[in-house]
Formats: sequence, structure tokens, C-alpha cells
Amino acid sequence: MADFKTLDDMDLGGKVVVTRIDINVPVEDGKVTDTTRIDKVAPTILKILEKGGKPVLLAHFGRPKGQPNPDMSLRVTVPSLEAALGKAVTFVERPDRATIDAAPSDAVILVENTRFTAMEEANDPQMAGFLASLGDVYCNDAFSAAHRAHASTEGVAKLLPACAGLLMEAELKALDAALGNPNKPVLAVVGGAKVSSKIDLLKNLVSKVDALAIGGGMANTFLAARGYSVGKSLCEHDLTDTAKQIEANAKAAGCDILLPMDVVVAKDFAANAPHRTCGLDEVADDEMILDAGPQTVAILASALDVANTLVWNGPLGAFELTPFDKATVQAAQAAGTRCKSGALIAVAGGGDTVAALNHANVSQDFTHISTAGGAFLEWMEGKPLPGVEALKGQ
Ligand code: AMP
Repeated sequence: MADFKTLDDMDLGGKVVVTRIDINVPVEDGKVTDTTRIDKVAPTILKILEKGGKPVLLAHFGRPKGQPNPDMSLRVTVPSLEAALGKAVTFVERPDRATIDAAPSDAVILVENTRFTAMEEANDPQMAGFLASLGDVYCNDAFSAAHRAHASTEGVAKLLPACAGLLMEAELKALDAALGNPNKPVLAVVGGAKVSSKIDLLKNLVSKVDALAIGGGMANTFLAARGYSVGKSLCEHDLTDTAKQIEANAKAAGCDILLPMDVVVAKDFAANAPHRTCGLDEVADDEMILDAGPQTVAILASALDVANTLVWNGPLGAFELTPFDKATVQAAQAAGTRCKSGALIAVAGGGDTVAALNHANVSQDFTHISTAGGAFLEWMEGKPLPGVEALKGQ
């Protein structure tokens, strides 16, 4: 397990805790439309208060490109934060230590969008120093921003005694249980549109897991590399050599590659398009593969039955279009059932995965679903996350 401190390790009595959170929530007409991220970080803020600390919250919001932009002010999140915490939140545009110290000892202070200056994304030491000057302790609860080395995620962490918040801690524990020190055998399921966006991820996984099931549009590239005709399916023909290389790496590492054995094809990329299930060598030139077939799902279910750990990213088909969601839904439900019985540790995340698992109604059954997109994918790629690395060895 990574070597980092948690809130339990820190003495926060009478201290100002500079706390990086992710409340980059969707907003419409000046109102937050989904408070999930705010609700999830509330326990960390409440725990800091409970331990006698005064949280000063730092967060980014949207992509203001280093310039102040009233449309991307974090002020809009204050009512939802107050509702989640059950207490008032003081919003400050330009924080300074004197104002923070003058606030009541149980105040919660939210600082304006960290990305209103270009110094944030440049990880400018001056900005990191300024953020550190605002408090006594640093707490990072924004795993989803941990793949960025920014002043508020990385620079400041090195200047104050630092720890992980509750969300960050839960995320890192779950990830460690999935790929760090997993209970073997480990099955990875990777789907989604394209191989090109997941080359590093696939290369890392084949060196770590016992079996890798590849689905979705990206499986078509692997099928084409094996010599099958995939008609007008989404397929990156220029990456067939990469697919062959990944298969060779897998073989050398003793990782089984599971590709679709049967597929669901249609002539149109549309919901309820006329479709049929067929073998891999039966895809016509004017057809496209939009989902895996029932035999593939059965093989996947058998692989799940022997796995003790599952890591999942990406749908197995065009899951937004009925009925091409079937393989994704059935495989997710098989995983959910085994997970609920306690026989499987299942960790999923990245991109459309959360939507796909919600659609399959199994989110509550999985051990952990990461809402972090880019950070989760970089972790699956085996890359060190600067925001996490900065917490280590403190
Ligand atoms: P990603 O963001 O790479 O995880 O890709 C997710 C997208 O891949 C979803 O929008 C799916 O509809 C799409 N997808 C999955 N399988 C296929 C397929 N066989 N053909 C076309 N698109 C697909």
C-alpha cells in the first residue's frame, strides 16, 4: 500500500487545513444539476471540522485557461456545499492568511477557482508557496485531479505536512487492491471505442493481469489483426500491428487474451437498427459489429467465475443504443452478482464506464467505482500520479 498519511494521522486542532477537493460539477442556468461530487467530499470536510481544523477549500472549475471568468466562478457551488455540510460556507475571491485566521474556528472557507491564474496549471512555485501560506496542513481529497502536477495538487503538497482525505484514501485503497497487491487471478475487462486511446493501458495490463477481455469497438482492431473481416465496423486498421504486439506481449507475460467469439452486427449505427448475431467469419462488408454475442458473454461469465479480482474500463458494445447494450449489461450483472456474494473484488472507472455500469444497475454491487476519468486511466496505464506521489514519504 502506498506510503501516505491520512486524516487519522494528523493533529488538526486549531490548524488551518488547506484542502484540495474536486467539485467540478455540472451547472445549468446558474444551478448545480448533479451534486454527487459535492456530496462525496462532504465527509472529509466534516471530519476536518470534527478534528478541530478549519478547512480552506481549493478547487478548479471548468477550463478558464488561466483567466478570471465569472461564468466559471465556484460561487455557484456554495448553496450545494452548504446543503451537503449542513452549515454556512464563506466564499473568498482573494484569500489571505489574516482573513482566514479572523474567521470563526469552525468556519468553512471556499476559495475561488484555482485555475483563474495560469500559475496553477504551470505548477508555479510562487503560487504553491502562496497556497501553503494560507494554512498549516495540506489535505488532498481530489484523486480525479491527481494526474495533474498543478500548484494546488502537487506543488503545495510538498510545502506543508500533507495527507489524503477520505475519498482519496478510499480510492487508493481500492486501486491497490485491484492492481497493486491484488488477490489473484485478476481479470481485466477493457472496452470502448478505440485502441489508439488505450495503447498504454493495454500494454500495462497484459504485464499485470492473468486474463484480459477486450470488447467494444477496439476489439474489432484485434479481430482484424487476427485476419477477420470486420465489414464497416469501427476499426483502426493502421493499428493492427500494435494489436499483434499487445497479443505477443500478453503471451510472453502469461496473460490470456479473450476476444469476442461471436458478435452482433447491424447495417446502421442506430438504436433498434435491424441486427443479427453471427460468427466472426460471417460479418458482411456492409455490416458493423456493435456488440459482443451471447457465447462471448458466457465465456466472460466463466472467466469472472474463476477471477478473484476484476478491473473494468469501457463498454463491450455501443451500449447507448438498445439493444447493443446487452453484452455490457449482462457481463456487468454477472460481475455484480459475484461481487455481492463476496467472491470478487471489482473495481471500475474511466470515461463511459460509470454510465455503462449505472445503466446495468450494478454500481452499488461493485467494490469500487472511480468517478475519476483521466486519473483512473493513467493509473491503469501504470503511470505515477503526481498528486499521489507528492503525498508519499511525508
Ligand atoms: P471509450 O470512451 O473509449 O471508453 O468508448 C466508449 C464508447 O465506445 C461508447 O460511446 C460506445 O458506444 C463506443 N463503442 C463501444 N463499442 C462500439 C462498437 N462496437 N462500435 C462503435 N462504437 C462502440
